[in-house]
Amino acid sequence: MSWQPAEGRYQAMPYPRCGRSGLRLSAVSLGLWHNFGGADDVERQREIVRTAFDHGVTSFDLANNYGPPPGSAESNFGRILELDLRPWRDQIVVATKAGYTMWPGPYGDWGSRKYLVASLDQSLKRMGLDYVDIFYHHRPDPGTPLEETMAALDFIVRSGRALYVGLSNYDGEQTRRAAQILRQLGTPCIVNQSRYSMLVRQVETGLLPVLEEEGIGGVAFSPLAQGLLSDRYLGSALPGDSRAAGGVGFLRPEHITEERLGVARALDALAREGGQSLAQLALRWVRRQPAIASVLIGASKPAQVLEAVEAMRMAPLDAGQIAAAEAILARQ
Ligand code: NDP
Repeated sequence: MSWQPAEGRYQAMPYPRCGRSGLRLSAVSLGLWHNFGGADDVERQREIVRTAFDHGVTSFDLANNYGPPPGSAESNFGRILELDLRPWRDQIVVATKAGYTMWPGPYGDWGSRKYLVASLDQSLKRMGLDYVDIFYHHRPDPGTPLEETMAALDFIVRSGRALYVGLSNYDGEQTRRAAQILRQLGTPCIVNQSRYSMLVRQVETGLLPVLEEEGIGGVAFSPLAQGLLSDRYLGSALPGDSRAAGGVGFLRPEHITEERLGVARALDALAREGGQSLAQLALRWVRRQPAIASVLIGASKPAQVLEAVEAMRMAPLDAGQIAAAEAILARQ
């Protein structure tokens, strides 16, 4: 018999509205940037995705270039859909993106209409889907008129390839301009996906106020700073199965500095005083922002997903915990 997800999966997960749209995202989203590539164990991938869905995670985040090799995360997710999730297609939100280098030549990168439409058609084929729920422009393109990129997003929705559109890595001002163009076209921008964690806080001043004003939902990626805000690197040796040891991504052993570890250790002590793990404190910290609809985590093991899900069941951080964390972060 085919796989059956847990009956009570929607009971404990919050589903905040994504900005002023009708779409509600699970407070935890699962991203497939790492651990879902061509060389990663497909059974482990299935286990992670199934654990997430079993515990109320409905929102899955991909991009054309996730792998390695580029495209393989979408192909693998397509297999998981086929094997496990297909009967529940209407209970999940699938997001993908285009904007970084995907294929050679002038039409496989940035933000032209030519690239975005072709890339999404390729993504749909890899995943075996008729449409995605959210299509993001992955990064601003200084070389293409913003009007063209936004018109491409509008076309993508009108042609049925995506239900909603969003922006990723657009700052406050860029988001405001893009949202205005999309509004005029009649396809609202409902979501902005940007990096936000206790260690990377630039969005707090520039972007988050714009998201609140414009009614755009924030999705915070790398809320655990790729694992630095967890117990992963707190021991004396670099764990062999960790992202930093893997050598394929942007987190390198040299990024695990004594200074960062000092902050992580102090935050870990604070987290434990409050009866939670460092990862849970870090996720609750991001989630406390009213503009943030969902924290977008990565996971190499099902247990990491469970830890994040559990954090969403905890009460919001209180003023004392926030002040104590701020005092530690001020040392950076
Ligand atoms: P995180 O900051 O959540 O880092 C995830 C990594 O942290 C995991 O792979 C794991 O690393 C470690 N980890 C997670 N949970 C725990 C835990 N409970 N205890 C210990 N270690 C833990 O997010 P990512 O950097 O992976 O980004 C998440 C998603 O955001 C991506 O998959 C992608 O969808 C999206 N993203 C979007 C970008 C954009 O430009 N729009 C850019 C980057 C990401 P380990 O492998 O060591 O176990």
